[in-house]
Amino acid sequence: MDRIVRAASGQYVDGGWREPARSKRLSVRDPSSGSEVGSVVAATPSDVQAAVQAAARAFPGWAALSPDERGEPLRRAHALVLERADHLARALTLEGGKPLEEAKGEVLWGAEFLLWYAEEARRPWGEILASSGPGQRLYVRRRPRGVIACITPWNFPSSLVARKVAPAVAGGNTVVLKPAEQTPLSAVLLFEIFHEAGFPPGVVNLVCGDPEPIGAVLTSSPDVRQISFTGSVEVGKLLLRRCADSVKKVTLELGGHAPFVVFADADLELAADKLAFSKFQNAGQTCIAANRVLVERGVSGEVGRLLAERAAEVRVGDGLEPGVTVGPLIDGAALGRVREHVADAVSRGGRLLCGGSEPPGLDPERFFGPTVLTGVPPDARVATEETFGPVAPLIAFSSEEEAVELANASEYGLAAYLFTRDLGRAHRVGEALDYGMVAVNDGALGWVQAPFGGIKGSGDGREGGRQGLEEYLDVQYLSVNFD
Ligand code: ADP
Repeated sequence: MDRIVRAASGQYVDGGWREPARSKRLSVRDPSSGSEVGSVVAATPSDVQAAVQAAARAFPGWAALSPDERGEPLRRAHALVLERADHLARALTLEGGKPLEEAKGEVLWGAEFLLWYAEEARRPWGEILASSGPGQRLYVRRRPRGVIACITPWNFPSSLVARKVAPAVAGGNTVVLKPAEQTPLSAVLLFEIFHEAGFPPGVVNLVCGDPEPIGAVLTSSPDVRQISFTGSVEVGKLLLRRCADSVKKVTLELGGHAPFVVFADADLELAADKLAFSKFQNAGQTCIAANRVLVERGVSGEVGRLLAERAAEVRVGDGLEPGVTVGPLIDGAALGRVREHVADAVSRGGRLLCGGSEPPGLDPERFFGPTVLTGVPPDARVATEETFGPVAPLIAFSSEEEAVELANASEYGLAAYLFTRDLGRAHRVGEALDYGMVAVNDGALGWVQAPFGGIKGSGDGREGGRQGLEEYLDVQYLSVNFD
C-alpha cells in the first residue's frame, strides 16, 4: 500500500499556495515506522508576516458580509470533507498514528464544526439593557475581533483545525493557522478544501514550520488580535507572556489530568466500557483521557478485572492494518514518559494487572500495550502528572468526600468523569468537581454543541457551542441618546 501522502507547499496565503521564500522542507514521519510520508515547506518569518498581512487586508470585507454569506464556504467545505473523508483519514493515520477507523471518526467529527458554525454565524445574539433615562437606549452587540492566530497540536490534527477555524471565520474574523510540526498534512488537505470551498483570498491562511520563529511573529504582530492555542502548559504560558506587550486575547486549551470516579453503586460494566474508550482512544494521547481512575474501595478489584478484560481485546499496531485499535505513541519522548510513569508506580507498590510494555513483536521505541495498574498510591507520578499514554492507574477511595478531594487535588481542571446510579450523588459530586467539563455515566465530552474547555491550569476559553463563537467576538455597548 502506498504510504506517501505527498509533498505539499504548506503555505496557503492570500488565496493561493505560495512558493516559499526559502526552500527548507519539514519532513513528516509515520510514527508506526519512522519512514517519511510527506513534507511541507517551512515558513520564514517574512512568510508569516505576509500571511498576517493578507488576513488583515481581508478582514474588513469578510466582516461586512452577512452571516449567511460567511456560512456558504463553510457549508461547501463540510460537503467536501465528507466526500474526501477516506483520503483525509488515511493521511491522518500516516502522520499521527491513530487507527484508520478512529482517524475517520475524527475527520467526520471535525466536519461537524464546519456545518454547525455555518449556522451558528446567524446567532451572535446581542442584548438591550434597561436605560437610565427616557431618551436613552443601551445596546450590547458582538463584533468580530480581527486576525486570529490559531495554533493546533498533533493529537487531533484534523478536527482541531476545523474546531478553531470554523467559529473564527463564522464570526467574521480572518485566520492564520499553524499546525503542529509532526502533523501538518491533515491541515494542508483541509486548506485545499477551504480553497475549493471559495473563501475569499486572505480569509484563511496556513503556515507550517518551526514553531519558535512562527510563534514569535504571531505573538508580536500588532495585527493579530487573538491567539487560540491548544497544546502544552509550557508553551501556553510562553504565548501568554509574549502576548502581554500587545495585549492580545489568548485562549488556551492546555493539559488535563482527568479523574474517572467510579462509585460502588455504578453500572460497573458501563463504567469499564467508557473507561476503556476514554483511556485507550488515540493510545491515551488526548487531553481529556481518564488519567486517574478513582474507584470506591469495595469494587476496585472488580473494576480492575473488567478493565483488564477490555484491555485484552485491544489490538496494538500500525494504524493502517485492519483490526488494529490502538496505534503507536507519537514519538520516543512520549514513550519514555509512559515507561517512567509505570516504573515509578510499580516501585511505589502499584501492581500490574496487564500491559506494562510493548506487545510482543512490536517496536519498543514506538508502541506500548494497554496497561492497568492497581493499588497505586495517590502521590505516584502516574497519579499526579499527565501520562498521555494507554495507562490506567486505579486508586481506591472510601467516601464521597474523599473521592471529591482526590479528584480536585490537581492543578488542572479540564475534564472529569463520574459513574453512579444515585441521582443526588450525580448532581452533588458533579457540581463539586473543579473541572470545566464533567461527564456523568459517559466517557465522551466533545459534542459540537457543547462548550469544551477547562479551568485552572488547563487554560481558559471554550470551543464548540454558542460559547465557541463568542470566544472570537468582542462585546461592544452602544449608548444611544435622543430627545
Ligand atoms: P505537545 O507537547 O503536545 O507537542 P506543544 O505545546 O509543544 O505540545 O505543541 C502544540 C502546538 O504549539 C504545536 O503546533 C507546536 O508547534 C506549537 N508550539 C510549540 N512551541 C511553540 C512556540 N514557541 N511558539 C508558538 N507555537 C509553538
